[in-house]
Amino acid sequence: MAGGWFRRRRDPDPIADADWQPAAATLAASISLTPAQWRRLRALATRFLAEKTFSGAQGFTVTDEVRIAIAAQACLPVLSLGLGAYRDFLEIVVYPAQFRVPRREVDEAGVVHESLEWLAGEAHDGGPVVLSWADADPAAAQGPFNVVIHEFVHKLDLLDGEADGIPPLPPGRRTAWTRALHEAHADFCAMLDTVEREIPRDIDPESEAADPWYAQLPLDPYAATDPAEFFAVSGEMFFLDPEGLRANWPDWFAQLAGLFRLDAIDESAPTEE
Ligand SMILES: [Zn+2]
Repeated sequence: MAGGWFRRRRDPDPIADADWQPAAATLAASISLTPAQWRRLRALATRFLAEKTFSGAQGFTVTDEVRIAIAAQACLPVLSLGLGAYRDFLEIVVYPAQFRVPRREVDEAGVVHESLEWLAGEAHDGGPVVLSWADADPAAAQGPFNVVIHEFVHKLDLLDGEADGIPPLPPGRRTAWTRALHEAHADFCAMLDTVEREIPRDIDPESEAADPWYAQLPLDPYAATDPAEFFAVSGEMFFLDPEGLRANWPDWFAQLAGLFRLDAIDESAPTEE
């Protein structure tokens, strides 16, 4: 939109067709957007690339293909909200594959447990988003998972400094969000309990042989971990397979739809801001 006689910032050059088209085509295999939403995603991804820095870890080379694929997925949760929602961090760190981080937990008896955990992604409060390219590459996507959406939904949650599944919201909406979140999370935990009881005793619930039982669930079992993970996994599903979410938890789905506001993009004119 023409904005008067001066501009506060120079708009970055849009991502070239030759770079954007293959990235969008790969993403379109798992994400459905309207033409207006795709245009908006390209505009946001362009600005995301201008504003954020990428660094490769363990010798990984961050190519334009990697940067564009990550930017496009990262902008999905803020398609309507805009990049201001990502104002508290600048850096995206990309590992070639899953990476190990030390974990320190204190149990109920006060005993400290230290371990190393393999991760596909991690969002630091006020700091970088860390991703494994093997998991973030949409060309390698398997099943209803998207680690980039997952970690950037954590970023929305962390905007108020707390990973509690509740992003900053006006007080009126916060109450309804919190109720819908906690009801859906509790319901999912009950579903998971039921499924776990149905797994025959001779099958290790941690093994692949148990997968057919977990596949009956509308979300990955990891969503049961806590309300923050329930929000992040629900956020993935909102973009990958919204009907399952809507059918199981209409109130929770309505809260997510009110945050992500994809409908507002189709109603609004052009993609420029
Ligand atoms: Zn998570």
